[in-house]
Amino acid sequence: MHTLLDHFAPAALPEEAERFRAQVRGFLAEHMPALPADRRARSWLGFDAAFSRALAAQGWVGVTLPRAHGGAQMDAFSRFVLVEELLTAGAPVSAHWIADRQSGPLIHKFGTEAQQAFYLPRICRGEAFFCIGMSEPNAGSDLASVGTRAVRAAGGGWSLSGRKIWTTNAHHCHYMIALVRTSGTPQDRHQGLSQFIVDLSLPGVTVRPITDLAGDAHFSEVFFDEVPLADDALIGQEGSGWAQVTAELAFERSGPERIYSSIVLLDRWIDWLRARGDTRHAAAVGRFATHLAALRGLSLSVTARLAAGESPVVEAALVKELGTTFEQEIPAAIEAALGEEPDAPVDAELLRTCAYVSQICPTYSLRGGTREILRGVIARGLGLR
Ligand SMILES: Cc1cc2nc3c(=O)[nH]c(=O)nc-3n(C[C@H](O)[C@H](O)[C@H](O)COP(=O)(O)OP(=O)(O)OC[C@H]3O[C@@H](n4cnc5c(N)ncnc54)[C@H](O)[C@@H]3O)c2cc1C
Repeated sequence: MHTLLDHFAPAALPEEAERFRAQVRGFLAEHMPALPADRRARSWLGFDAAFSRALAAQGWVGVTLPRAHGGAQMDAFSRFVLVEELLTAGAPVSAHWIADRQSGPLIHKFGTEAQQAFYLPRICRGEAFFCIGMSEPNAGSDLASVGTRAVRAAGGGWSLSGRKIWTTNAHHCHYMIALVRTSGTPQDRHQGLSQFIVDLSLPGVTVRPITDLAGDAHFSEVFFDEVPLADDALIGQEGSGWAQVTAELAFERSGPERIYSSIVLLDRWIDWLRARGDTRHAAAVGRFATHLAALRGLSLSVTARLAAGESPVVEAALVKELGTTFEQEIPAAIEAALGEEPDAPVDAELLRTCAYVSQICPTYSLRGGTREILRGVIARGLGLR
């Protein structure tokens, strides 16, 4: 009988990856900017190009990319440790984040030798920041219905027109990898989609930042008005955009990123309880610790399959779904605990951190694919639909 356990064989971090952890901690002790917890809680929305370049100078942006293209050629376990340390410290990783985790691996997998030689070393040096142009006003979950279109231009190359939305960091990035239609109509669904690397400094590109509920502007709306693209802006095969984007989303959904979004708040709360000698919430803290240990085990198991060259799409979806639920439970529980004593003096930094995470946490189960969509992927993977 095929059971869930077959999907999640236990995995442990190799000793080498644990040794690497000490190096990462040493780097953070030296380079991590001194930020209050409510700033650190932003972590992968926190943009700091200087920090990303310092990390790149260490060789740790594009860690899994080949040395020949400027990467560190480390394995998926080392990347797990690096990401785990950066996120638990609340490091501002947003500048290089998408290039490191998604665009670099995509270019490595589908790019021509010339595209790899041009983009990958710049990603690894922290000089080329990328964003992801998938969602559109009428195509979020239903990505196959994207309407942004690239048509062949008379003098060669392509002309791109349309609109993307919720594009994280578009206003800070050099390039977007955009999913667009190159033939047929949105009704043709998976047919006729392609991916392009769009230089955001080209004429015809307009980027308009959007302010979120917490007052930050970390994503944007991007307009394309007959943007001229060279032939070599196409990445992979024309018409293969759907298959490529599916592979790209597997990079996005795997890894420990989907467990740690509320960890700075949890740590800050535990510090505060400890400082007050308050043991009333020990059971809640214990539950979070055991829950985290189990999630981390699942995430490591997915990492082991990635390291073995597999593409565990369903398992990654399951970890993201469980991980984001955990990330959303933390602010709810802490808010409730603080609310039990409305008159007790509370540390202002803890309150600000809790307020920020509570406001932003609904996005955890939207970005990278919503909870309902992931549950559909999991159900299909388990043969339930
Ligand atoms: C912080 C943040 C950062 C983001 N960054 C990026 C980015 O960098 N690039 C990018 O391209 N996009 C980005 N997104 C967009 C994100 O991927 C989309 O918001 C998401 O895919 C949902 O699409 P939508 O907003 O159009 O909602 P819709 O697709 O309209 O969905 C609305 C609701 O209906 C549900 N629903 C939709 N279809 C189904 C179905 N078939 N079955 C059951 N329920 C369904 C959804 O789960 C959701 O609850 C970001 C979003 C957030 C919140």
